[in-house]
Amino acid sequence: MNDFYNNFIDSAEKSIADSKGPKSFKLKEGTSPLFVNKEETTLRLRTMLHRTVENLDEELTRFEKNFSSKNSTVFWASSYDDVFSNLKKIFKSQKVRSVRLPNVNTSTVFRELGMKYFLREEKIELREEGDIQFFAADMMLSDIGALLLINQSNSGYALLSNHKTNVFFVTIDRIMCNSDWAEVYQQLATYSTGGNCQEMIFFKGSPNCNNYVFIVDNQRNVLLKEKEPRQALTCLQCGRCNDVCPVFQTIGEEPYNNVFSGPVANITLPYLETFESYMHVAYACTLCGRCEEVCPLSLPIRDMIIDSRQNFLAHDILAKRERRMLSLQRKVLLSRSKMNASTFVKGYRFGKYLSSDVRKSRRIPSFSKESFNKYYLKHKNKDV
Ligand code: SF4
Ligand code: SF4
Repeated sequence: MNDFYNNFIDSAEKSIADSKGPKSFKLKEGTSPLFVNKEETTLRLRTMLHRTVENLDEELTRFEKNFSSKNSTVFWASSYDDVFSNLKKIFKSQKVRSVRLPNVNTSTVFRELGMKYFLREEKIELREEGDIQFFAADMMLSDIGALLLINQSNSGYALLSNHKTNVFFVTIDRIMCNSDWAEVYQQLATYSTGGNCQEMIFFKGSPNCNNYVFIVDNQRNVLLKEKEPRQALTCLQCGRCNDVCPVFQTIGEEPYNNVFSGPVANITLPYLETFESYMHVAYACTLCGRCEEVCPLSLPIRDMIIDSRQNFLAHDILAKRERRMLSLQRKVLLSRSKMNASTFVKGYRFGKYLSSDVRKSRRIPSFSKESFNKYYLKHKNKDV
């Protein structure tokens, strides 16, 4: 390890131990020698994230144990209701009338929770000098019990120690078991914001204020049960794959009527919502593999999508009738004699096996006038 990196870790640890509160660090992209061998670095980062997800229950508990103190409380929220019912208690006990929340429209976790609408319903104002302030944490660092906060404006967290109460929100997948990787994570994950020099804070609470952390599950535990698709939880949410995916680029922003979209959403959304309502997004993929080429973690996105598709079949998501029809279609397509039948007969047989829903919503391509077999027999002598 080199001096730059050791100094960085030393100062980070010093900041965490500092009872006066957090300090911030400014990094310049590319200055870390960890980037000298990018392939090895990203492979090791992926291994670390993979290890974290595979032991998620232990790592979350470790974070809670290391973070909790007299002034810091961790809430485990399995759903929106858990978040909002506990927030209401905090509002009531602290007579909160306004909240400072600068990124309510841009932060994924606030958009996922629909925080804006909840606050509106509760008649809580959004104000710069609010009674308490909300933050979306970028990562939980379980080994040191700290929250990683990456800021783009270099001034957004200036009030961190000044407010009476800070409330942080983070989903269960945003966790790393080794804080040494925070800098590399920051450099790779901030691609969508241009990877600019940003303020990075390791926050372990401060004695002057109350700190609450909401760890939100929101159905991610369903995804955790699936061996292949759960690797999607290690995604850095950097957005590189969105930029190259031909499907995402064609259908545009937020096509799924959901906060999540793009290649990773094709895997995660059916689990985070319901199979019935979002199963179709797993099929919004041509398996071209462009996303994997640019992914800094080389996540096997295609394998995860294929695995998800198989899971839907195994979960009996397709109606029995649909499955029967698909199996009959397969038989027709694989039968030489049936495919040599006249265009009319083939069209009739095939159409019969499609449900009326499919016939209504899609244009069913017609068969060519003659089968390949007939075409071949007619033309083979000419070609010779
Ligand atoms: S493999 Fe699928 S998700 Fe990935 S870029 Fe191609 S179409 Fe998009
Ligand atoms: S799948 Fe890879 S490229 Fe896409 S957002 Fe996640 S880390 Fe970035």
